[in-house]
Amino acid sequence: MTKVRFKALSEATSRSPVVVTPLKERPVTSFGQLVFTREKMKEYIAKDILVLLFDAIDNGKPLNRDIANAVAIGMKRWASELGATHYTHWFQPLTGSTAEKHDAFLDKDPQGRVMEEFSGKLLYQQEPDASSFPSGGIRNTFEARGYSAWDASSPAFVVGDTLCIPTIFVAYTGEALDYKTPLIRSTSAVNRAAVDVCRFFDKNVGKVFSYLGWEQEYFLVDEALWNARPDLMLTGRTLMGHESAKNQQLEDHYFGAIPERVLAFMTELESEALQLGIPVKTRHNEVAPNQFEVAPVYEEVNLANDHNLLLMSIMERVARKHHFRVLLHEKPFNGINGSGKHNNWSMGTDTGVNLLAPGKNAAANLQFVTFLVNILMAVYRHNGLLKATISSATNAHRLGANEAPPAIVSVFLGKQLTEVLDKFENATADEGIIINAKKEMKLGVANIPELLLDNTDRNRTSPFAFTGNRFEFRAVGSSANCGAAMLTLNAVIADQLIVFKKEVDALMDKGERKERALFTVIKKYITQSKAIRFEGNGYSEQWKQEAAKRGLDCETSVPIIFDSYLTPQSVTMYRNTGVLSEKELHSRCEVKWETYTKKIQIESRVLGDLAMNHIVPVANRYQSFLLDNVVKIRQIFSGNEAQELSTQDMVIIRRIEKHVSLIIKMVDEMIEARKTANRITDERDKAIVYHDTIVPLINEIRYNVDKLELIVDDEMWPLPKYRELLFIR
Ligand code: ADP
Ligand code: MG
Repeated sequence: MTKVRFKALSEATSRSPVVVTPLKERPVTSFGQLVFTREKMKEYIAKDILVLLFDAIDNGKPLNRDIANAVAIGMKRWASELGATHYTHWFQPLTGSTAEKHDAFLDKDPQGRVMEEFSGKLLYQQEPDASSFPSGGIRNTFEARGYSAWDASSPAFVVGDTLCIPTIFVAYTGEALDYKTPLIRSTSAVNRAAVDVCRFFDKNVGKVFSYLGWEQEYFLVDEALWNARPDLMLTGRTLMGHESAKNQQLEDHYFGAIPERVLAFMTELESEALQLGIPVKTRHNEVAPNQFEVAPVYEEVNLANDHNLLLMSIMERVARKHHFRVLLHEKPFNGINGSGKHNNWSMGTDTGVNLLAPGKNAAANLQFVTFLVNILMAVYRHNGLLKATISSATNAHRLGANEAPPAIVSVFLGKQLTEVLDKFENATADEGIIINAKKEMKLGVANIPELLLDNTDRNRTSPFAFTGNRFEFRAVGSSANCGAAMLTLNAVIADQLIVFKKEVDALMDKGERKERALFTVIKKYITQSKAIRFEGNGYSEQWKQEAAKRGLDCETSVPIIFDSYLTPQSVTMYRNTGVLSEKELHSRCEVKWETYTKKIQIESRVLGDLAMNHIVPVANRYQSFLLDNVVKIRQIFSGNEAQELSTQDMVIIRRIEKHVSLIIKMVDEMIEARKTANRITDERDKAIVYHDTIVPLINEIRYNVDKLELIVDDEMWPLPKYRELLFIR
C-alpha cells in the first residue's frame, strides 16, 4: 500500500527550512504604508475636496459624484505609485469571509478606445455578479443585482497589485446583504442613544464611539500533513483522530518558547499587518499544542472588524509561504482547547472618556454605573439573541466543551463591582445620592476604585466578562465575522439606553432631581437584571441547572438558537434601532440555517467517504493479516496450545469486526438520513433534522474509527495522527 502518512511526513521533514531573516536585514516597513490614510489623502487630493471628504467620513455626510471623482483620481494615483494595476470592491457577504472582484484600471472611452480609467462612479459603486452570494431569498438569481458601495469611513489599501476598497454590499431594494452595513448602522444607533445619556452628565459630548479589540486564536499545522488529511482540507477540522497520549496536560506549550518556524511566520505576518495599518501588538502561544494568538490595539469597531477579516486572509497566505496551514476553525481537534476570538468591547466619547471605566469624581462614577447597568439590562433581556450571534455549526463544537464558555450567556463583574452594585441596590435615594451644602453631589453608596483594571479577578469561564475598562465577549468563534456579534451588542445597548433615557426623563418631568432620577432607575435595573450575573465556574454542570432556573436561554441546538433572531422582542429591537429590518432578519436566518445544513452535510459526506475508503479497507487488511496469523498458528500447533496462542489475535479480530460493522451500518444509515433530510424544503426544518439525526451519527462513527486507530498497525494507518499533527518540529 502507499503509505500516505509516511510520504507526507518525509515531505514535511525534507523540505528546505524557512530562513529567518536577522532583524537588522529585514526590510524597513512603516506602519500603514499600504493604506490610503488621511495623511496620504492630503498629498493626493485637493484641499477643498478634502474638507468635504473628511466631513463625509466623520459625520456620514453624503458624497456627490464630483467629489467622488476627485477622490478616485487621487486614490488611483497613490495606488498606481505602489504598483497597483487593478482595483476591487472588498466586501463581507453573509458567508462570513470576505469577497473581491478584481477589475483592471481600464475602460473604453466614448470612441471605443481602451484607456486607463478609475472614476468616482467605479470607486463609488460596483455590481459584482453576486448571484451566488447567499441572500436568504432577498435576491433571486434573475434579479441578482446586489451592488457594493464605498464605505468612506474605512480606508482603502493595496494588497499585491490591487487597490482594495472597503464596501458595503446591498440589494437594489436597499436590504443589507453583508455584515458591514448593519454594523455601521449599529454604530450610529449606539452613538445617538449613548450621546443622549452622556448629556445627563456632560453637555459637551458630541459623539460616542464603540470600540473593538479582538484576540484571534488559531492553530498551525504542517502543510504536508494537512495535505494528507482530506478532512482538514475540506472541513477545516479533523473528523477523526484519537487523542494524543500527550496533549495539553503539562501546559508546557502555553509557557513555552515559540518554535522558530512559527516565529518566522509570525514575524512576516506582523510585518504585513503593520504595513496594512493593522496595529498588531501581542502574540503568544495558547494553551493547546500548536495553538497561538494574535491581537492588535483596539480600534473603532467597524475598522477593527475590517482589520480582523483582512488579517485572517493574510494569515492564510503567509502561512503557506512557511509551509504551514492556518486553522481558523473553532475546534480542529477533539479533546484539546478550541479557538475563540475574544471581542473586547467598550464605548468612549469624543471628549476622551471611556464610558466603561470609573472616573475621578462622583458624577463620573455615576455615569460609569449608568452605562454598566444598562449593559447588564441589555445583555439580560437579549441573552438568547446574543448567543444566536455567536452560534454556528463550527462554534457548536467549542461551546460547552469543557474548556470553553457554555451555550449560556451570563455576565461576570468581579467582587468589587458586585459589592458596588449590591450597595446601590440596597440604598434609598437619600442614602445613595448626597447633595452637600455647596450643591456638590456625592455617592453615598460605595467607593468605586478609580482603577478597576488591575483589581478585576479574571474569571476565564465567563462568556461575557467585565475586565476593568471593557467587556470581553469570549464566546465569539475564531472563524466568525465579529460583525455579527458586535452589531447586535451595539443594537441591544442602544435600544436599552433609549428606554433608560425615557424613564429618567419621565421622573424628571415629575419634578425629581436628575441625579435622584438616575439613581432610581439604575437601582431598579440592578434588581431586574440580576439573573444575568454569574461569578462562579461557568464550565460546571451546576451552572447549567442554575441558569435554567434563572430563566436564561439554555438551548443548545444551533438551528433552534437562531429562532432568537425572529422573536417579537428581537424584531422590535432591531427595527427601533434601525439596525436590521424584519425582512433582513428573515433572510439572515435563512442563510444561517442553510449554511448550518451545508456544513454538516459536507462533514457527513467527507466522514462517510473517509470511513469507507480509508479506514474500513485498512482495518480489514489488518484483520486479514491477523487471520492469516491464526491460520498459521493452527497449522503449526495443535489442540489447546493452538487455541491459547491465537487467543489474543482472536480478541482483536473480533474487536475490529465489531467496529467495522458498526461503521458500515452507520455510514449507510447516515446516507439514508441525509436523503430524508434533503427532501425537506423548509431551511429551518432541514437544519433541525441535520442537527438531530446526522450529527449524532457523525459522532458515533468517529468514536468507532478512533477505536480502530488504537488497534490497527501504525504502519498501515492511512492518516497522520494527532501526535504528528500537533507538535511542530
Ligand atoms: P488579555 O489579558 O485578555 O490578553 P490584553 O491586554 O492583551 O488582554 O488586551 C486584549 C485586547 O483588549 C487588545 O486588543 C486590547 O487593545 C483590547 N482593549 C484594551 N482596552 C480596551 C478598551 N477600552 N476597549 C476595547 N478594547 C480594549
Ligand atoms: Mg482577553
